[in-house]
Amino acid sequence: MSPAVDRNVVFWFRRDLRLADHPALVAAIEAASGSGGRVLPLFVLDDRLTATSGANRVALRNACLRALRRDGLPLVVRHGDVASTITSTASEVGAHSVFCTADFAPYGRARDQSVEAALAATGRRFVTIDSPYAVAPGTVRKKDDTPYKVFTPYSRGWAEALGSTALLDPVDAAAVDWLAASGVGIPVDPSGVAPSLPVAGERAAEARLSTFLDTHLHAYGRLRNDPGADATSRLSPDLKFGTLHPRQILNLLPEGGTGTAKYRSEVCWREFYADVLWHRPDSARHAFVDGMGAMTVDEGTRADEVFAAWCAGRTGYPFIDAGMRQLVAEGWMHNRVRMATASFLVKDLHLDWRRGARWFMHHLIDGDIASNQHGWQWTAGTGTDAAPYFRVFNPVSQGTKFDPDGTYVRRYVPELAVLSDAEIHEPWKAGGGGMFGGVDGYPPPIVDHSVEREEALRRYAAVRGR
Ligand code: FAD
Repeated sequence: MSPAVDRNVVFWFRRDLRLADHPALVAAIEAASGSGGRVLPLFVLDDRLTATSGANRVALRNACLRALRRDGLPLVVRHGDVASTITSTASEVGAHSVFCTADFAPYGRARDQSVEAALAATGRRFVTIDSPYAVAPGTVRKKDDTPYKVFTPYSRGWAEALGSTALLDPVDAAAVDWLAASGVGIPVDPSGVAPSLPVAGERAAEARLSTFLDTHLHAYGRLRNDPGADATSRLSPDLKFGTLHPRQILNLLPEGGTGTAKYRSEVCWREFYADVLWHRPDSARHAFVDGMGAMTVDEGTRADEVFAAWCAGRTGYPFIDAGMRQLVAEGWMHNRVRMATASFLVKDLHLDWRRGARWFMHHLIDGDIASNQHGWQWTAGTGTDAAPYFRVFNPVSQGTKFDPDGTYVRRYVPELAVLSDAEIHEPWKAGGGGMFGGVDGYPPPIVDHSVEREEALRRYAAVRGR
């Protein structure tokens, strides 16, 4: 069929696996009806993305796809090289256009350019609408048109650019006459998936949001740093897969109150990092601040051993180990503990931040290239503003300050549960058990924090003095 008579539209789902408040999907349906055609709802399994996602994110993605089907969308799943799969599908179903929500991360941008070129070569349009953000990356700029590198001024520009967060009505999947086509099944989940993943899909996301707003928002400012309190929203995987759009969150936040202000600010951090990465795609792999990439990092057998201990949650520092075990058990870790464990890898173990970032990305259900790489760079002192290089988190006092009664440590490091609140973050001081104190079965600290802190400062001073 020649493109001139094509009437249909393909809607390509990516990080927007929902039906509510979906401008790109609504636009696709309108465009199809305007040309007297129908919409094919499509998801393409991309081996390259699957290979870098880790079992947890693949399983959650599969569950989100199943949820869309449960919600009445006859989603067609195909598998193959993305540009050729999209182009051949558009041609097969007589689509004049392929609609999708824009992607701003480095891989997505490159992929979309090749899809656009392949479609254009067959006379078809590639239409991107909206973004996974309340304010699209690249929008907020300084007066001189350069990008922000510091969060606080960015957040002011972001608030001005935000505009209306009014929501579109959800697409009623049952009321749309969708186009059908053959496809493959939603894949079987890979092996090695974390035992406890959240319920997937937009219904579950909406329920999480409303529970958070009703129960935790008022105390969010006070409790968000307490990992034992379960006081954060846990919406990061929903934002990752687009089962919820940040607009939906911002729209429902009540006006006023410290909880609202703090929560908006956290949502803005996600948008800031996406903006930074959009302007500097190289910062996914390299130090954002010039020169910081030259810092000496440890390699070799001893480095591999301490890295393995960090991954396994056996560093001998309970707060760090609890975080690393939560990551493996749930594919998620509390933000405070992400900062502490990342700092420990970089400043106590002197390993390359990218090594830790890869481990996080492999396990996190919310693994997001912008938030993860820049969260790591912030902690490592190689990234945007804030964390000054000389701030070295103390793995004991992070625990005593943010988990004073050991609730969090007891949950994830059960062999320490018998210790008193005074001992739980320093088990080596406990009387019973091991030969020099400590608890049988739990390792002594693999490094001496006070020594490694000095070493970290020495290494930072060396690169800063260049
Ligand atoms: P809430 O406290 O409820 O916050 C609401 C939302 O705000 C989050 O869902 C998230 O979208 C956003 N947000 C909150 N804190 C941050 C932050 N510091 N940076 C960016 N966005 C934030 N977040 C990811 O979504 N994906 C990642 O891969 C990721 N990797 C990280 C790695 C490191 C080393 C660090 C220090 C942070 C990382 N973060 C990442 C940010 C943060 O830890 C998580 O977004 C947060 O813990 C998610 O839990 P929540 O939804 O309960 O957060």
